[in-house]
Amino acid sequence: MSEGRRSSLKTELALWYGAAITLCLIAYSLAVGYFFGRHLEFELDRRVHEDIELAARSLIENAEGQPAWVGGFLGKEIEEEDGGGHWLEVWSEAGPRLLSAGTISDPGLEPLGGDKREGLRQGRTIVSGHGPLRVMTDRVVVAGRPFIIRAAVSEVGSQQQLWQLRSELVAVSLTVLILGGLGGVAIARRATGPLGRLAERARRITADHIHERIPEEPASAEIEDLRTAFNETLARLERSFEQLRRFSGDASHELRTPLTALRSVGEASLRHDHTLAEYRDVIGSMLEEVDRLTRLSDDLLTLASAETGRAHLHMGPVHLLALGREVASHLSVLAEERGQTIEVIGDPQALALGDHAALRQALVNLVDNAIKYSPEETRIVVSSGLAGDLVFLRVQDEGPGISVSAQPRVFERFFRADRQRSREMGGTGLGLSIVKLIAETHGGTVQLQSEPGHGCTFSLLLPSSTSKTAV
Ligand code: ADP
Repeated sequence: MSEGRRSSLKTELALWYGAAITLCLIAYSLAVGYFFGRHLEFELDRRVHEDIELAARSLIENAEGQPAWVGGFLGKEIEEEDGGGHWLEVWSEAGPRLLSAGTISDPGLEPLGGDKREGLRQGRTIVSGHGPLRVMTDRVVVAGRPFIIRAAVSEVGSQQQLWQLRSELVAVSLTVLILGGLGGVAIARRATGPLGRLAERARRITADHIHERIPEEPASAEIEDLRTAFNETLARLERSFEQLRRFSGDASHELRTPLTALRSVGEASLRHDHTLAEYRDVIGSMLEEVDRLTRLSDDLLTLASAETGRAHLHMGPVHLLALGREVASHLSVLAEERGQTIEVIGDPQALALGDHAALRQALVNLVDNAIKYSPEETRIVVSSGLAGDLVFLRVQDEGPGISVSAQPRVFERFFRADRQRSREMGGTGLGLSIVKLIAETHGGTVQLQSEPGHGCTFSLLLPSSTSKTAV
């Protein structure tokens, strides 16, 4: 199939090349034929005109007062010149034909009509018994008397020259066409050759050899562009493969941990008989692991749906101060359990363009983290406002902060700065990556400012629903 496509491109190139040459040849041949024809016509007219002048010079008045030729002028003078057939007639201005002579027999030209001045000095072609003749008339005055001279020159020689030129043009054109066609095939082969090699190399790169690249080789700029684009795509694919591989590894590890805990708790409890209170403990700890699994699968689902991009979002104005209050009230029980207070402040004008449910999920994750990782009896501030063309939603806590080395990685999937604490608090390691994905699908960003020991500030920057730059 691909072989067929390659050869068809080659054929197409060769055909286009052939068509271009054919068109050029046709245009060239037509132009040459036309100009050569005009040149021959001009030459014929010149010769007919010369004949008229010669005739005028050779015309005398005889003793009877009639026009006559100076003996022997016709034939020799003209024939020596070109050997073509010539014919001359002398007409009185008002009356009949007076004289005629020529190197050919009388071609029987139409008699000149009453108005002999009509069409003087204008060459035209007439078909006679001698073949085509170029004919012209002119008015001359000999010994004070006006005459009309009509001269005719055979066009046979010119026509032969024209036909010869045409056949030569056809022969040359055919030769050029054949050579051009072969050249076209060679050019097409040369142009498509590197493409074929590129495709061949690309075909060898499978998922198992995704780290391989198409090697550089001298090629035209277009092929080089194609190679670079393909190699860049491969690099992106390799990164995605790697991320996917890491993600599946991490996800299966995360799934296995609670499942292993469930199994071992279950197996251990089955080994001996237990009291009702002990069974309650066992079931309680099994339910904890089930909770962990539920949270993990919920987070994985949220991540998967956020990854589908903006398609699933119901965009509209989201009142950030109201959203802050809603989330604070939703999580207040958790905060109260730890003696923490959640303060919500902000600009009532701050309206984000976003999906309410998605932004709520992002804010829940941030406030939930603040509650989880901050010590008891601390304060959490949720603020919102305008930031130029954008709006912000900020969560500030008085917790331990995040070390400088861990800060760049906190938004990675399954990354935990404090693994022990995260597991104790039932974290899945996906909360912040979900926040980042939600921010990005809204055309916004999430930023972290933290000085270890002095808490964290997470800021969501989002497009404002009133901004013209809102996406
Ligand atoms: P987790 O489910 O573990 O909380 P997240 O993606 O929400 O996963 O957070 C990633 C890691 O970043 C956490 O494990 C924690 O170590 C750190 N972290 C997140 N928020 C805070 C915070 N407010 N204070 C301190 N550390 C935090």
